[in-house]
Amino acid sequence: MTKPRVAILGLGLMGSGMAGRLLTAGFPLAVYNRNPEKTAPFAKAGAYVARSPRDAAARADVVISMLADDVASRAVWLDKQTGALGGAAPGTWLIESSTASVQWIKELAAAAKQHECELLDAPVTGSKPQAASGELLFLVGGSAEALAAVRPVLAVMSREVLHLGPIGSGATLKLINNFLCGVQAASLAEAMSLLAASGLDREKSVAVLTAGAPGSPLVKILTARAAANDFTPNFVLRLMAKDLTYAREEGERHGVAMNTATPAIADFEKAIAAGYGDKDFSAVIPALQKR
Ligand code: NAP
Repeated sequence: MTKPRVAILGLGLMGSGMAGRLLTAGFPLAVYNRNPEKTAPFAKAGAYVARSPRDAAARADVVISMLADDVASRAVWLDKQTGALGGAAPGTWLIESSTASVQWIKELAAAAKQHECELLDAPVTGSKPQAASGELLFLVGGSAEALAAVRPVLAVMSREVLHLGPIGSGATLKLINNFLCGVQAASLAEAMSLLAASGLDREKSVAVLTAGAPGSPLVKILTARAAANDFTPNFVLRLMAKDLTYAREEGERHGVAMNTATPAIADFEKAIAAGYGDKDFSAVIPALQKR
């Protein structure tokens, strides 16, 4: 069976790994990135480098975007001159894999429908290493028919593709997931600040915390990164602030107070103001300790 033509819009930490997997699996691939420098390795590997999202979408049966946030997604899909939707032929399958707000996903799905295309929201769990090795988990919202059509494409980038319900379902669970990660990271950073201020032995104390009830997989990863003083980004800190903000807004829409999101956002904003926004989100730990 011939493989569908795929376009990837956004070659950041995640999109570049996903594009690499698609090329390795032999899918005809078009790539677009706002900063064209990031396209060079994909051109060498045989991908078509598109001049615009519109150009990329015009050459694809399946269009996947992996962008920073709602603002980036809106610009890339809907720009009147260069937007992907303008280039997509009716019947093209559209996939938004960015972590976006549920409201935006619904708006984009409506725009896609007007264009006779169907959108799936398919954000992911897993980080840069899992994107590169094809071990992501896709959290999918949208129709079962659309998912069946694109499943072979998602399969080469993932360990699992989970259908959660109608459009917006993937985005909703992804925001809940990152809300739990974000508040944990922020409270860990506060705990580590108290630990440092109190003069306790850091190594001994962290060993107690990580071996005990608070030692979640995330706390273990973040304390290890802090101990190694390695904040090379897998997931940049400013995007965690974005996810917590979208999660809080989603809570508000449902009348659910996501109270712990607010101080966590304040911790991440403090870290961004101190210059840690483009570091890995584990850098919230040293950021809070810098007074
Ligand atoms: P990233 O490395 O910061 O890449 C962001 C991408 O968005 C880049 O291609 C960037 O283009 C593009 N972009 C940003 N603003 C834009 C705009 N206004 N117009 C056009 N393009 C724009 O982020 P990432 O880590 O790949 O994350 C991508 C998405 O996946 C985010 O929604 C993130 O929350 C989510 N996610 C990330 C992880 C992770 O561990 N990294 C895990 C799960 C989900 P330029 O190169 O030109 O800046």
